[in-house]
Amino acid sequence: MKRLAFSVLALGLAMASLAFGPPAGAQTGAQTGGTVPPAPQTPPERPSTSQIEQARSLANTQWGKGLPAFSFALSKVPMTQYDGGAARQAGTYNFPVSKNIAGVYMTLEAGAIRELHWHAEAAEWAYVIEGRSRITLTSPWGQVQVADVDAGGIWYFPKGWGHSIEGLGPNGTKFILVFNNGEFTEQSTFSITDWIANTPMSMLTEYLGWTPQQVELLPKKQVYISKFDRAVPPIGEARPRAADTPPLALSHVYQLRSQKPVSVLTGSTLRLVSAREFPAAFNMTGAIIRLEPGAMRGLHWHPNADEWQFVLSGSMELTVFASQGQASVSKLDPGDVGYVPKGYGHALKNPSKDQPMEVLIVFNAGDYQTINLDDWMATNPAYVLQNNLQIPADVVNRLPTAGQDFSAPKR
Ligand code: MN
Ligand code: MN
Repeated sequence: MKRLAFSVLALGLAMASLAFGPPAGAQTGAQTGGTVPPAPQTPPERPSTSQIEQARSLANTQWGKGLPAFSFALSKVPMTQYDGGAARQAGTYNFPVSKNIAGVYMTLEAGAIRELHWHAEAAEWAYVIEGRSRITLTSPWGQVQVADVDAGGIWYFPKGWGHSIEGLGPNGTKFILVFNNGEFTEQSTFSITDWIANTPMSMLTEYLGWTPQQVELLPKKQVYISKFDRAVPPIGEARPRAADTPPLALSHVYQLRSQKPVSVLTGSTLRLVSAREFPAAFNMTGAIIRLEPGAMRGLHWHPNADEWQFVLSGSMELTVFASQGQASVSKLDPGDVGYVPKGYGHALKNPSKDQPMEVLIVFNAGDYQTINLDDWMATNPAYVLQNNLQIPADVVNRLPTAGQDFSAPKR
């Protein structure tokens, strides 16, 4: 991970002070009152933006010092290979700050199945990056959903519910799994074959009504991912074995990519899916943010959720404010992960001059809440800001009024 020695915020404030004249107390060389200030050794010059940034950084901010890393180069982690698929993961074990959310990037070949399993201590929220996945999900009330999820789609599996994932043709599928537990690992799932392989023969013969010779046909250890050469039946023929199985009352899949963006400004877009749009995912929210070159998702925080990020394309700068004079800037490449603890101030920027950037964001709350810095300032009386920021009234009037979640560079 690279930490950059400059800050979007510092840049913005530095630009503001250049635009509105020197800050209070600056040496101007002009006479004030009856006293003559000492003549400067060299003519006063406007400091360059980079000089201001450097000064602010050195004086005010412990850039990354004493802070955990807020990004992790998941894209550099080798894939663990299975017969029919591969996976890499990020959690507290390799990305310590991510205490409450873990992620797994997985690929499945066409016809390969991530076997029937459940998670004891995490819900699973997933986004299909490429291809098509078929999921099966069984509820504690004996209902099932069997569904094909195309690229751009998501699914949500509640904690403890049984499920499977299959790669479909022609080229299989790639997806990202997000779990609302930072200690989650793909090795700690409860798999059907692991369970069967670790159940006494006498119990299996009695439970299944099979002979020992028949039980011997079952796997002797966890399969995890299994691969077949047989053609996968179309979704219409993928029916439950028990004909009277009821369907799930709520769909647990949702096409996020086909959602009309809820916010579009200067070519940058936001697609958001909270429990309001997707009630099945009652305790998780997802979003896709697209930023044009140079554009920024402005300064904000989330009062009720941690934020987990996965860069889909392009590169991203993540600025995190951690209070007590501490902040950091991270640069993320495609496939890398970022994490913002609940309540920490942050902003995202696309630093590229010519490439758009897309990031998948997942929150561990179904109720999406955010407070944007501009809205915060806009909702306060002008005199409060004038006193608080120690700026003249006419400068207060130039503060953004509201609704500028996204901003683009001036052209
Ligand atoms: Mn799972
Ligand atoms: Mn955020």
